[in-house]
Amino acid sequence: MRILQVASEAVPVCKTGGLADVVTALSAALVDADHDVVVLLPAYRGVFDRVEATPLFELGDPLGLGHTARLWSAPLPDTRATAWLLQCDPLFDRVGGPYGDEAGIDWPDNHLRFALLARAAAQLALASPTFGRAIDVVHAHDWQAALATAYLAWWGVGRPATVFTVHNLHFTGRFPASILPEIGAPASAWSPKDLEFYREASFLKAGLVHADRITTVSPTYADEIRTAAGGIGFDGLLRWRGGAVRGVLNGIDTRTWNPATDRALGVPYDLDHLAGKAAARRGLQSELGLAPQNTAPVFGVVSRLTWQKGIDLFLAASAAVLAEGAQLVILGSGEPALELAVAELAAAHPGRVAVRRGYDEGLSHRIFAGADLLCVPSRFEPCGLTQLYAMRYGTPPVVRNTGGLADTVADDDARPGTGTGFVFDPPTAEACAQAMLRACAAWRDTSRFSGLQRRAMTQRHDWSASAGVYLDIYREAMASRGVRG
Ligand code: ADP
Repeated sequence: MRILQVASEAVPVCKTGGLADVVTALSAALVDADHDVVVLLPAYRGVFDRVEATPLFELGDPLGLGHTARLWSAPLPDTRATAWLLQCDPLFDRVGGPYGDEAGIDWPDNHLRFALLARAAAQLALASPTFGRAIDVVHAHDWQAALATAYLAWWGVGRPATVFTVHNLHFTGRFPASILPEIGAPASAWSPKDLEFYREASFLKAGLVHADRITTVSPTYADEIRTAAGGIGFDGLLRWRGGAVRGVLNGIDTRTWNPATDRALGVPYDLDHLAGKAAARRGLQSELGLAPQNTAPVFGVVSRLTWQKGIDLFLAASAAVLAEGAQLVILGSGEPALELAVAELAAAHPGRVAVRRGYDEGLSHRIFAGADLLCVPSRFEPCGLTQLYAMRYGTPPVVRNTGGLADTVADDDARPGTGTGFVFDPPTAEACAQAMLRACAAWRDTSRFSGLQRRAMTQRHDWSASAGVYLDIYREAMASRGVRG
């Protein structure tokens, strides 16, 4: 099969969150299963420094903006997949992030930037037999790529199958109706049966309407988004799509996330040689200026600092575990109020709470390794990757009972001797504090804790099983295309 993945980020070319990890790891697993995978990405500033790219051809001016788009090809680093880089400098070559400027304000022309990505994907998929092997499946990720499925449906006959994956339903890609002519949508698109969503255009909705198959990143999240509480207005449409909607649990790239080979760690370790983990703990305390104590656990957080991630719950719960002597390490950035609150907590507890603002891949690895426990108190979590990384590094997670967290972490108090972490519900500071205190108690019981670590480290969350499920879904989408397309 030849599969075109369309996404706004893929590690190590560009990453702001889990999407980037998933796109690359899924692509690598599909190639390992002997399929041909190309990942189409925007050529943001700096991308050409990270890959060995060669020019392919010009794509003209797909949206009639007066800017020529060009396609480059490069090996997707650390995989046997190919990256196609969409160069259109006026739209993508900017100082700032993929979605907004340095202050975090969304780029005002995001509708054009990601319509161009999606339209290029659709054009390339249709033209692929003329310049190589025909693309069988276009797999679009999140709202930034969703229009690829819509263009192919709007244009009609002879199209490849389409699959749309929702990594987070809350990112809806909403714009005023006035943008529709600019993105080349037909008049018929302005309808509740198409991308119209409460009098705005939603790129996400276009994907939910038009893709032959819809997936999201865990079975529990697939259920949650089909309820009024979790569906934020899309639940009716998702229920109507019926069996076309599936939850497929994300895997992790076990080559990158492996404490036995991790170059970010001073001393590698594995299940049977945990001395390196103790060294990682000491190293983390020293790197972040924490007191070198070994009488209470170190809790880590590696996260966007947002309401979704429940960082306020963690902050409100922190007094209870600080009173127990625990230390806290927080890496992330996000909402200004939460950034301020974590900085204030660190200032109030020097040597006991350490905060690093911003994005730091190496430090994230050292936290997964060096912390004793990882906190992921999300209000909702489509899948979540950090709890999977932490488990592989022998760091049991404390998570809320939602989405992929519920699907991947088992509470060790609920069924003693079988768990991989600690799970709490409801989304309150009290419930979070109780779970963190239960985790502290488990940490103090050395033999119990080493059993927990062992079970966490032996969980299998590599991509091989989930890649097989995606292949089945691709085949279903190809079989259904004759009916829908
Ligand atoms: P989301 O995609 O919703 O932010 P996930 O748990 O699915 O959450 O994925 C987050 C990814 O981003 C993980 O790979 C995590 O390690 C990484 N990450 C989050 N914040 C930071 C940070 N400040 N520095 C380095 N890596 C981070």
